[in-house]
Amino acid sequence: MLKTAEHRWVPTLPHERTMTALEVMACRQGRQPGTGTAEGPFVHPFVSHGRWGVRCPECGSACQASRFDPRFWCPTCFTDGDPWLPVAWTPDCERAETALSVRPVLETRNWRAFDPDEPVAVLEAENTVYLTRRVKAVR
Ligand SMILES: [Zn+2]
Repeated sequence: MLKTAEHRWVPTLPHERTMTALEVMACRQGRQPGTGTAEGPFVHPFVSHGRWGVRCPECGSACQASRFDPRFWCPTCFTDGDPWLPVAWTPDCERAETALSVRPVLETRNWRAFDPDEPVAVLEAENTVYLTRRVKAVR
């Protein structure tokens, strides 16, 4: 399983119990995102070293993404009250998670979901080569 915002931003305080992980992240940084979600631009998830992330289209900052809360709000450059941006999760993300989760080395769990040159089939083909080499190296 790849890590998400839910692994890092766990609601523990009484006032956080009704918040999503992303809302906890903003709250703990003293920020207040708006209540609405903009119609765009969409941000696209990626995987880096086994963690789902999204990159801010404005400043380039990366934040952990949530598989349960398909929104993004940049604590670096957005102003309090700005709306969330939608995250473009696709069915391929589930398939990519399956492909990457079998890799034993965390640093090899990477994927650019937004890159048409790196479809999930590429990850699966890499697994065939990578996992075969690892098995041979162990023998
Ligand atoms: Zn930003």
